[in-house]
Amino acid sequence: MPLRTHEISGGGSGIGRAVCQRFASEGALVVVADLNEEAANETLRSLSRDHKVQEHMAAVVDVSSKQSVERLVESIQRRYFQPASVCVNAAGITQDDFLLRLEEAAFDRVVGVNLKGTFLVVQAVAAAMVASGVSKGSIVTVGSIVGKVGNIGQVNYSASKAGVEGITRTAAKELSRYRIRCNCVLPGFISTPMTDKVPERVIHKMTSLVPLGRMGEPDEVADVCSFLASDDSRYITGASIEVTGGLFMG
Ligand code: NAP
Repeated sequence: MPLRTHEISGGGSGIGRAVCQRFASEGALVVVADLNEEAANETLRSLSRDHKVQEHMAAVVDVSSKQSVERLVESIQRRYFQPASVCVNAAGITQDDFLLRLEEAAFDRVVGVNLKGTFLVVQAVAAAMVASGVSKGSIVTVGSIVGKVGNIGQVNYSASKAGVEGITRTAAKELSRYRIRCNCVLPGFISTPMTDKVPERVIHKMTSLVPLGRMGEPDEVADVCSFLASDDSRYITGASIEVTGGLFMG
């Protein structure tokens, strides 16, 4: 059976990098796509070193640009003669401020990467899957628990992540006829460069609210992405799965 190609946007860091490493360990061909070229190459080197597979590739993508996302999809097709049959879009940014102070540009930037970026990636990847008749495609989006519950200082981010769930459920309904599933993971508080920016006192306060009593690790989110990518989740589509250690449950 030919190897399956997995595309991970935001694969240069944090959760996206852990997803790349997980998929490579399962034997998939991994496309590490990121805005940050050096970071993508670093992830790529970690795959080659750890899993001795030379066939993965790194690519630069700006998920907020339709042209850039289309170039990525074309380059995957050229390299592997098939589109990705699994896609995880983990690219995301924060630009926090209180509602009463947040600049319009910061709202637009975060929505542009997190929400529009999800739309562009899901649309382009799904179109390539449909055009080449990929069956059992699986698309995983990355939302956030704050898209459900809101968060002080994150009006732009929480709005963008609520929208990611809306895109996911709609894509799941529209793509089911092509046997493509689309699901969303909702991380809580995960140790990555994104949360490294959060002040220590806020980390402490948030961690005290987590029933499992600690922050999550990127590979704990990658485990769920792996499940959603696999046939083990074949009857699951349009779902949002919380990976939060129980934070804000219920
Ligand atoms: P991270 O370590 O900052 O990784 C995000 C990656 O996305 C970075 O390599 C970043 O590159 C890249 N990126 C940013 N803008 C991009 C663009 N326009 N196109 C392509 N790539 C872009 O963050 P993370 O914590 O792993 O987050 C991964 C996803 O999980 C994000 O969607 C985030 O919102 C979500 N999430 C994270 C947490 C958490 O606690 N960490 C919680 C809930 C949800 P640069 O470094 O150059 O910006």
